Amino acid sequence: MSKKNIKAALFSELPSIDELLCDVKIEELCETIPRKLVVESIREVVDENRKKIISLEESEVAGFSISQNNILMESIEKSKKNYELSLKKVINGTGIVLHTNLGRSLLSPQIKNEIWDAASRYSNLEYDIDKGERGSRYSHLTDMIKRLTGAEDVLVVNNNAAAVLLVLSTLAKGGEAIVSRGELVEVGGAFRIPSIMALSGADLIEVGATNKTHYKDYEEAITENTKVLMKVHTSNYRVVGFSKEVTISELRDLADKNDLPLIEDLGSGVFVDLSKYGLTYEPTVFDSINSGVDVVSFSGDKMLGGPQAGIIVGKKKYIERMKKNQLTRALRVDKITIAALEATLRFYLDEENAVKNIPTLRMLTYTYEEVKEKANNLYNNVVNKLNEYKIEADINIEDTDGQVGGGSMPTEILKSAGISIKPKNISVNALEEKLRLSSSHIIARVYDDKYVLDARTIFEDQFEQIAEELAKALGGR
Ligand SMILES: *Cc1c(COP(=O)(O)O)cnc(C)c1O
Repeated sequence: MSKKNIKAALFSELPSIDELLCDVKIEELCETIPRKLVVESIREVVDENRKKIISLEESEVAGFSISQNNILMESIEKSKKNYELSLKKVINGTGIVLHTNLGRSLLSPQIKNEIWDAASRYSNLEYDIDKGERGSRYSHLTDMIKRLTGAEDVLVVNNNAAAVLLVLSTLAKGGEAIVSRGELVEVGGAFRIPSIMALSGADLIEVGATNKTHYKDYEEAITENTKVLMKVHTSNYRVVGFSKEVTISELRDLADKNDLPLIEDLGSGVFVDLSKYGLTYEPTVFDSINSGVDVVSFSGDKMLGGPQAGIIVGKKKYIERMKKNQLTRALRVDKITIAALEATLRFYLDEENAVKNIPTLRMLTYTYEEVKEKANNLYNNVVNKLNEYKIEADINIEDTDGQVGGGSMPTEILKSAGISIKPKNISVNALEEKLRLSSSHIIARVYDDKYVLDARTIFEDQFEQIAEELAKALGGR
């Protein structure tokens, strides 16, 4: 047969969509997946196979065959894939607590009801129950945050980038904002302080050098166009060695002399002094307010451990102006976020409660001994399972380096532990891929030719699942 004829024969072997739709397996599938989507998925599979035939080289044609059953199976797989949600749970075995790519901070299961109630029922979102009249969505967070930070007023927006934009647009638009050259942070995803400043309509006046900025640098830069003095917490890098920054109290003094507001982008705001729990000291929101910053902004979902949000706290007279800025409407925070944030913040009324019950804080503050014990349990789960299936692999408990992540505390190494696996029958990279693509989507690190799962960021109730997936991936079942 000529090449053309063979291809024509292959085309004729492709099942028709109607034929496939009559199969019992497809009929069954249509009980859970909408028929319309199944039909589209079958069409996609048949099309892909048709394209495959068209692109076959002469040398490949003879060895190629169409199996009706394969096309059926591909159609079922495709339908399931097309029906499945894109956003799904993964297991974080990286030891990076605030893993930006894996969803940053994690909410406590104890606040499920509060979130679900706000999401699924009517609420007093913008209704004042006492007065029986229109209220403000921002009021729900005000008392709690004032209590926790000592600030006069509060505004919450979509995220901290939005908060910085709103603060600058309100207080510095059309004028100048003075920032140290050592603090022109890029946060990631191309979010840079200078770009946000440009967007807000404020002119950035850079002062000092990368490593050193002095009081007189700020002082000399002040003109009649100056609108704010701004401090940016260099949360994702450190200037060490021959360096100097001007303290908040010095800047407070300068701001007072010139009747200017002092603002600070704190990045990852914390309410708890984490040095008590073995981490390096990070300035708390309370410290910033207390040392005289007029307006502080920070993220809800970094070390605070809440939902994505940008929290602005500070002097009432400035926050009042922000509430009237049209941008506030564009950056406004959703009711589900308000519910999650308020319920998370309530834990902070008792600091120990916060550290115990907010998963992000819990993971950040594990002692080495606690993680080691988790690693031991994980090890036992995995070894038992592999023994059950008579799978051989080199498995060990390992010390690891965990990280805070999320661009916070970059130099901090969290002394951590986990397990390492050296498979015998497949490569380490193949193991990594299998586990990542498995239905549990396990994400972990590969180094020194080992697959390493850090126990710090894995929940105890995921150990059994990991053991099962490892057994599958290593070929036992
Ligand atoms: C993370 C960070 C931001 C941005 O916060 P998002 O909540 O991610 O928008 C802004 N400034 C600093 C200093 C940061 O660390």
